[in-house]
Amino acid sequence: MSRAYNFNAGPAALPLEVLEQAKAELTDFAGTGMSIMEHSHRGKAYDAVHQEAVANMSKLLGLTDDYQVLFLQGGASLQFSQVPLNLLPAGGSADYVNTGTWANKAIKEAKKVGTVNILADTSKEIPTNMPDFAALPYSKDAAYVHVTSNETIAGTEMPFFPDTPSPLVADMSSDILSRPFDITKFGLVYAGAQKNLGPSGVTLVVIRKDLLERAPETLPTMLQYRTQAKENSLYNTPPTFGIYILMLVSRWLLAKGGAAGIEAINKAKAAKLYAAIDGSGGFYKGTAVPAFRSNMNVTWRLPSEELEALFVKEAIAQNMIGLKGHRSVGGIRASIYNACPPEAVDALVAFMADFQKKNG
Ligand SMILES: *Cc1c(COP(=O)(O)O)cnc(C)c1O
Repeated sequence: MSRAYNFNAGPAALPLEVLEQAKAELTDFAGTGMSIMEHSHRGKAYDAVHQEAVANMSKLLGLTDDYQVLFLQGGASLQFSQVPLNLLPAGGSADYVNTGTWANKAIKEAKKVGTVNILADTSKEIPTNMPDFAALPYSKDAAYVHVTSNETIAGTEMPFFPDTPSPLVADMSSDILSRPFDITKFGLVYAGAQKNLGPSGVTLVVIRKDLLERAPETLPTMLQYRTQAKENSLYNTPPTFGIYILMLVSRWLLAKGGAAGIEAINKAKAAKLYAAIDGSGGFYKGTAVPAFRSNMNVTWRLPSEELEALFVKEAIAQNMIGLKGHRSVGGIRASIYNACPPEAVDALVAFMADFQKKNG
């Protein structure tokens, strides 16, 4: 049984080295005679894992002392609510940029909490687009500005992060640590782990410490960021196995040269795939405006839906999994996150050429 070429959008591929290590110590972690899953979250063995996960994340993200790492649950989807519940004061307003499905969901939840200004809406544009983030009418007195750094379904990615008058908040679920970025522009970033960081069940939140005090005391304890901040994400039982895998992924990423190291690999993978699309004489058509093409989720169409279905089916027969576009938009999507090896992209590019020869 060989490893599949896994292009799943999330949960997504994990580094083979990480899986091998987890397998090797699954029943006996560090000579303790127990799985890490069976250890107390207050014990020595798990504590070392937890501390290393926090330290490695801080290092990879280039955090200063002004920021804190939190490991939460509820996915990025709970953050759509938790961000406004903590950061949007009664009577205040927040700026949001609507770039697609995920931004739209964040907006929907924020509107339940307070006033939302939509700075731009490119969510319905085809080819899929993003606004010029340098030229948006940011409010002077907004509680924060919310952006989605990578629209996983559309296949668009913010090419840079703007300077904003109020703290920038980003949903980075599908491109966190795929490239370096300057954390000091941000008040808060969040990401479900299951695309670039580890398994589902862990949500990474990085928050600027001064924002911890914004939440009203009436907010339920578990929804206040400061509850977990005070306890280093150990207020209650954290998702220990997920954090352990995330820690192994963070080690793997450090060995690759961190965000800058993996960015070079990611850019090369994406460039190959876009070159295959653009060089197909129109048989394959990229669906994102080129300036906003994602290096994580590459989306394209074929001349007909029948050919798209055949493409997906024949790809599966060649061990290439997860290429069907999101059900809301159709087409083809290859998710090529950090852990998707370059060989998988090479195999896909070869398959695309072969498929076109037979069906073009
Ligand atoms: C996958 C994804 C989400 C949803 O994450 P959950 O952890 O399933 O809640 C939110 N935003 C973006 C950009 C995503 O890619």
